[in-house]
Amino acid sequence: MTDLKSMLPEELCEYMVSKGYPSFRGKQVYEWITKGVTDFSEMVNLPKSMREDLALECTLSCAKIVRKLVSKIDGTIKYLLEFEDGERVETVFMRYKHGNSVCVSTQVGCRMGCRFCASTIGGLVRGLKASEILEQILVCRRDTGEDVSNIVLMGIGEPLDNYENVLKFLRLVNDERGVGIGMRHISLSTCGLVDKIDKLKEEKLGITLSVSLHAPSDEIRKQIMPIANKWGIDELLESCKRYSNATSRRISYEYAMISGVNDSKECAELLAKRLKGTLAHVNLIPVNSVTETGYKKSDANTVKNFCDILEKNGIAATVRRKLGSDINASCGQLRRGEQKA
Ligand code: SAH
Repeated sequence: MTDLKSMLPEELCEYMVSKGYPSFRGKQVYEWITKGVTDFSEMVNLPKSMREDLALECTLSCAKIVRKLVSKIDGTIKYLLEFEDGERVETVFMRYKHGNSVCVSTQVGCRMGCRFCASTIGGLVRGLKASEILEQILVCRRDTGEDVSNIVLMGIGEPLDNYENVLKFLRLVNDERGVGIGMRHISLSTCGLVDKIDKLKEEKLGITLSVSLHAPSDEIRKQIMPIANKWGIDELLESCKRYSNATSRRISYEYAMISGVNDSKECAELLAKRLKGTLAHVNLIPVNSVTETGYKKSDANTVKNFCDILEKNGIAATVRRKLGSDINASCGQLRRGEQKA
């Protein structure tokens, strides 16, 4: 089946021409896709026979909402979505003062193996197509009737391990003839694939790069993130420096605080030393406990002290405000729970 939702307008026009239709039909299909239709029969300005032909050969890669959890505290919505082949991912819709933000998944499962993370426990099933990442935004718009102004690629999966599809998604969602979300309103989070960070830098996209650092030394990082065996922290931070030099963008470092593992005063001091003089912002997140991992989150005092040490040393740091805490909004635990059930 031809995946129409992964196509930019010019590709859709080309496709329609290849099928013997006039090029402008491609633009019409693109408009319907942007509106979020789920069936070719809804594309009412196309002749009926054309809609029927398209339905036979093409797919709109739509997702079904399998479960929907709504936070009573802040209205955050977590969706468990199912794609055409029955594979499932999670998508989170968050309301902020500055607009609505959607956290999208980029893969079904993950092969990075971070020890504290629920998404990686069953390994990688497959990468999502560009259309399936875009569909997560469209589902949120359809279901809530609200607009989306920000996107974070922080759901299930390692975006840079699905590089081509993720890049295509970024180009699609940014296209002003379509959904039109500015690159400055998009953040991509990676566990630190150095070769891909260097590649991404060349695309000159203007998105924010978030790097899941989680430790100030190779010794600790290796205990919790297998990727640290491939690239050392020095190599990673060098690539981040190259990225921010090339794009003039500040790097956002994620730091999940795990009690007794990476939350000591010494860790904070070493982290400050490593980041000194770089364009950086550190997000401290008390780790979410995942039944299988056995890790516990640092207590509030420890987190605050850690944050103070970074700031005293001139490193911008914030303790992440958590939305949807009553619906377990983070971490791939919903997909995982449903698999076991
Ligand atoms: N693979 C990408 C993006 C997905 S995870 C990455 O590693 O960055 C999004 C963020 O959630 C990452 O910073 C990840 O390390 C973090 N995370 C995963 N499990 C967590 C947990 N149990 N508690 C807190 N943060 C977690």
